[in-house]
Amino acid sequence: MFRGEIYAYPLYLQNKLANKPITFFAMDVTCKYWPYLNKVAKSCPELQHLLDMKPFLSVFHAKAHDFKCEVKWSGAYQQGAGLTLGEEVEQCNAFLSRIAVTTKHMSKAGRTDMLTLMAMRWNQQNLITWLLHLPADIRRPQKGWKAGFRTWRS
Ligand SMILES: [Zn+2]
Repeated sequence: MFRGEIYAYPLYLQNKLANKPITFFAMDVTCKYWPYLNKVAKSCPELQHLLDMKPFLSVFHAKAHDFKCEVKWSGAYQQGAGLTLGEEVEQCNAFLSRIAVTTKHMSKAGRTDMLTLMAMRWNQQNLITWLLHLPADIRRPQKGWKAGFRTWRS
């Protein structure tokens, strides 16, 4: 596979998401991808809008890159990125990997059910954590929140 082909997949996905209000484009190899994107955007002006997103090198992956790369591209130093890691898929996979020892002995249906339950647990845990970290004035329940919560739980 040629390097251009490797970056064509993220380019395709980025272009698919480009109509949404996205500030950062997080990736494990942003430092390699972004120069490629600049080159492609020069040749294809219709992709110029992709450069409006800010390149964001995943925080933990940046630690494995050289120091200059980390300083220039890491999301940890991006204005407005907050404490986002850019490793959200890895975090979910790490959570789900806990059950790998047991699910490998299950039937396909049992494994699917267990993974579904764990994915629901992951979402619930994230929602609760997210709610607890909201500022108090935003956390105040809005009218009709109970009905919304019941719908979400079912
Ligand atoms: Zn790098």
